[in-house]
Amino acid sequence: MTDQYAVIGNPIGHTKSPLIHGLFAQETQQDMSYTAIEGPLEPHDAFAATVRAFVAAGGKGMNVTAPFKLKAFAMADERSERAELAGAANALSFKDGRIVAENFDGVGLVRDIEVNLSQPMAGKRVLVLGAGGAVRGALLPFLAARPAELVVANRDVPKVRALVAQVAASGSLFACGYGDLEAMGRFDLVVNATSASLTGELPPVPPSVFSAEGAAYELAYGKRLTPFLRLARNAGVASVADGVGMLVEQAAEAFAWWRGVRPQTRAVIDQLTVPLD
Ligand code: NDP
Repeated sequence: MTDQYAVIGNPIGHTKSPLIHGLFAQETQQDMSYTAIEGPLEPHDAFAATVRAFVAAGGKGMNVTAPFKLKAFAMADERSERAELAGAANALSFKDGRIVAENFDGVGLVRDIEVNLSQPMAGKRVLVLGAGGAVRGALLPFLAARPAELVVANRDVPKVRALVAQVAASGSLFACGYGDLEAMGRFDLVVNATSASLTGELPPVPPSVFSAEGAAYELAYGKRLTPFLRLARNAGVASVADGVGMLVEQAAEAFAWWRGVRPQTRAVIDQLTVPLD
């Protein structure tokens, strides 16, 4: 029987996941279907009921997107360490009556930066902007890449301090506000993991953080040159990229987790890329 997978979110019309997983399945010759489900927002327990109905109908796994990542995490029987720190799941696997939660956003992000964009983080100064769900999922994978220093800046400073305090710092990890950045010099990599670009806004980051030989990465994708990427370009940064590669790489991680085979990502990223200019 064809194995069934789905992505669940609300709204879900914009999702690229069925296209991505369809291309992966074709390439790796997997007998599977992948659909999009608009999850119910109300009543409170309706999301879990929808997931359980999918499992009962033979579903093998799900990707989870906004606003259900916390609910997916909460309903799981087992959770990976990455999902635990994020407090959120972006992928579920259903096996032997158990629901296992994973979070591949951070590994997908690190893989896109290090492999696809050839910007290894080891020994580098890395600045991350934001302290939301995406950053929660990215902290452990970022630290595993062994930067010399990882600074996380956020508008809500107590929030970013609390997040950083949760990580048993195995590296040099610091939390701060935007006002502290001017004094911190240049970073080799600046990652905009705020949601500011979704509304065309710019996080209050000073141009002094960028270095011309370094890189700037924007998690939002398909929005061309966002105010953040424009600021980086104007500061002379040659390597600027948006988050389309992260999207495809986290999907590849989930696919490999479910199917035991890792798909190629380059052609899929190329197909989904909206040029910045
Ligand atoms: P959250 O809503 O969880 O967090 C949003 C963060 O952005 C908060 O830290 C908030 O700061 C900050 N923020 C919002 N507006 C501004 C602003 N104008 N100036 C400064 N900071 C601001 O969002 P997520 O973490 O889930 O997502 C963040 C981004 O990552 C989004 O653009 C999302 O689309 C993208 N994303 C991309 C993925 C991909 O595959 N490419 C996957 C997941 C996310 P504060 O805490 O101070 O309120």
